[in-house]
Amino acid sequence: MQASNPKFKKLLAKYKEISLLAEINRILSWDLNVNLPSKASMTRAGQAAYLAAAVTEKWLDKDFYNLFENLRENQDKLSQEEKAAIRNLEWAGKFYFRVPKEMIVEKAKTASEAFMVWQQARNKDSFSDFRPYLEKIVGLDRLIAERLGYKQNPYDALLDLFEPQLTVSFCNVIFGQVKNELVTILKKIKESKKYRQENKRLESESIFPQQEQRQIALYVLRKMGYDLEAGRMDISTHPFTDTLGFGDVRMTNRYKENDFKESLLIAMHEGGHALYEQGVKQDYQRTPLEGGVSLGIHESQSRFWENQIGRSKEFLRFLTPVLHAFYPEQLLRFGEEEIFGLFNRVNPGLIRTEADEVTYNLHIILRFELEEALISEKIKVADLPLLWREKMKKYLGIEPKTDREGVLQDVHWASGSIGYFPTYTLGNLYAAQITHKLKKELNLGRLLERGELGTILSWLRTNIHQYGSLYWPDELIKKVTSEELNPKYFIDYLNVKYGGIYRI
Ligand code: MG
Repeated sequence: MQASNPKFKKLLAKYKEISLLAEINRILSWDLNVNLPSKASMTRAGQAAYLAAAVTEKWLDKDFYNLFENLRENQDKLSQEEKAAIRNLEWAGKFYFRVPKEMIVEKAKTASEAFMVWQQARNKDSFSDFRPYLEKIVGLDRLIAERLGYKQNPYDALLDLFEPQLTVSFCNVIFGQVKNELVTILKKIKESKKYRQENKRLESESIFPQQEQRQIALYVLRKMGYDLEAGRMDISTHPFTDTLGFGDVRMTNRYKENDFKESLLIAMHEGGHALYEQGVKQDYQRTPLEGGVSLGIHESQSRFWENQIGRSKEFLRFLTPVLHAFYPEQLLRFGEEEIFGLFNRVNPGLIRTEADEVTYNLHIILRFELEEALISEKIKVADLPLLWREKMKKYLGIEPKTDREGVLQDVHWASGSIGYFPTYTLGNLYAAQITHKLKKELNLGRLLERGELGTILSWLRTNIHQYGSLYWPDELIKKVTSEELNPKYFIDYLNVKYGGIYRI
């Protein structure tokens, strides 16, 4: 970005150091998740802690803060990009400017301990082992929320750390509508003849070698426009995408030999995140406008490719011959209709990451409700296992027998990320609204049947990716779709698609 003002140039130079340290930190974290020998975990924790302290110091640097404050107070003369940069710095810096350093260190330390304990507690199915650590995290997050400040609900302060300006009252309205609709759709699906007849394990007797799964994933990623000379796809237990620097946006995948679908959908999901990052203007590199604008918008890009494209009838029609060529013995007996069915089976389950499009957001809403109640002290950590079961029963009609399949399943609370979950549902809602708009401008079905994904990427680049963090989520969605976030598009999408599949 161009800065005319000398003070602004100085501010950008200082921010560049923060950005560089963050890049280095992400290289360490990528390596931790992909390559690290098990005996090196303490060494890596020490390196990461040192870098985190260095980043905190940069944020708290007096000159940096004074420059920022001075420019923030005299914004009238700034350009649109400069104003957006100041807004982003205010948002990202808030954590450092308002929360005492000791509290930041304490939170980081608690989270890394909690993460270790959680892994064992989950294996042992012992919530009581994890409980004191989660209590400490919740306690610290309440203190942090007080320091950050909020208007109505302390949980607002935490939500805003992951999605700028997100509040409980906004989520209550949106999620409330979504929840009722989803429970109704799910009920109808479960009563349908098709659901009751469905053969639950059509493909599971077959073996799909990892090498072929990887080749198909790479084939689709190339079609999508992912630049493999500016990225790579490795293996990790929990797939993720990260930007290690300009020209270096990496993703990971995982392969299950009895399931050919998962690694393909993961590649499309992570590919969606990666394309967003690869598409941001180079000019924004190492400035406060770099990278995708928020977790919710980021997730809209991953869910768009995974669900709106990857699970669509037209794309799967295009892909069926490819799948047949790779897996003749395993899949030749399945036509495009059956393949479409395999990718779109509704099956209420206990595990969020394995959930289908209809039930996924119920998993999120459950977590949102529990987090809100925890942070505003309506419930205690000790109440979680029971409340989890009650809500699962109420929303999905199933109940976990163990905490391992219930309250202990996700890493988020253990790693101190309370407030993160709602961004997943926002992503699904944004994705449906964006697709609705895209379909008005492109003949999506025709493009997908021909496997012409490049045109779709161009549309996303023009309308979303290039802007990086210039527009905030609410501005961006309005700019792209001429409307605020509206859950109607997602509900309509589900009703049309699953109404057709289950004939309801
Ligand atoms: Mg994601």
